[in-house]
Amino acid sequence: MTSLPDAPEPTHRLRIDTEALAHNWRALDALSGKAETGAAVKANCYGLGVDTCVPVLRDAGCEHFFVAHWSEVHDVLKHVPAEQIAVLHGPLNSAEVDFAIALGVCPVINSIPQAIRWVAGGGGVCHLMVDTGINRLGVSPDELESDAVQALDIDILMSHLASADEDGDTNALQLEAFRASFGKVTYRRLSLSNSAGIALGEDFAVDVTRPGLALYGGIPRRELADKVRQVAYIEAAIIQVREIGPGDRIGYNGEFTASKPMRIGTVSLGYADGFLRARGPGCNLRHGGRSLPLLGKVSMDMIVVDLTNASHVGEGDWLDVPFDLQNAAQQSSVSQYELLTVLGRRLHSR
Ligand SMILES: *Cc1c(COP(=O)(O)O)cnc(C)c1O
Repeated sequence: MTSLPDAPEPTHRLRIDTEALAHNWRALDALSGKAETGAAVKANCYGLGVDTCVPVLRDAGCEHFFVAHWSEVHDVLKHVPAEQIAVLHGPLNSAEVDFAIALGVCPVINSIPQAIRWVAGGGGVCHLMVDTGINRLGVSPDELESDAVQALDIDILMSHLASADEDGDTNALQLEAFRASFGKVTYRRLSLSNSAGIALGEDFAVDVTRPGLALYGGIPRRELADKVRQVAYIEAAIIQVREIGPGDRIGYNGEFTASKPMRIGTVSLGYADGFLRARGPGCNLRHGGRSLPLLGKVSMDMIVVDLTNASHVGEGDWLDVPFDLQNAAQQSSVSQYELLTVLGRRLHSR
């Protein structure tokens, strides 16, 4: 059988600024003080691509990589040693225990059943998640002294902050609850902070930090605003140019009506690519330094821009799509996490 030709290049793409990614890891590492700085690389590095991001983080000095699912391990293992990979969901059945042992990957144990399963299956070193108030995953503080938990060989004792991006007393209460667990189990290292937690100071950093969002350019707390750089850039090509006249309407529901002759370009980007209806209009694309206003509604795969004052821009030209995560989140009321992760589902990083 003859093989199929490669697919043509897509007309939209995600450009990853790998320098900025390395910069962000180093900035978070500096803020983490004495703690070792890891990286949450789950969800395909929040949509930006494991193959693009993990080698950059590794070369910057990262030695702790956190994924959510066992199915995410193989992709990360192409770039870093198994013992540096931890799986946050833990082993939900004996097949996952066997998988972890065969590969040498470290599970995060989240419950007494998981602890029993891990030890019964012959598991060795693991991490332990203790719940200090998020009520998502983790053993409760009063389960720490159980036989099942005491039987574990714990490397990192960790907990997760529910509201590190907010002020208020939750963070201090969780830190206090975390500290209260220290005497109850034996462990080598402690870990508490995600990106926002790192901005809360060294008390929260302890031995290992686990940033995700801020590595990829998200800014969960204002303290990080001047330290974190944009990493993901969206670019899309013009796939058709047309001339329209007064009275002509553009796009679904004809939301925009021309009042004069105009030159417009159809751009290969829509909400199927994570470019949301809620963001336009007022969210202009750019070519070089020139701003190109959005006209009408965003549709599934396309948007239309005004090229009347950009006669040199035409079919096949690439446009820059503004993607300041903080602004985009404010404009669309979609969280920075969601904005990032939806992008990578269709746009391929390069
Ligand atoms: C996702 C995750 C992180 C990273 O959180 P960010 O808010 O993206 O920095 C850290 N720890 C755990 C347990 C997580 O699930």
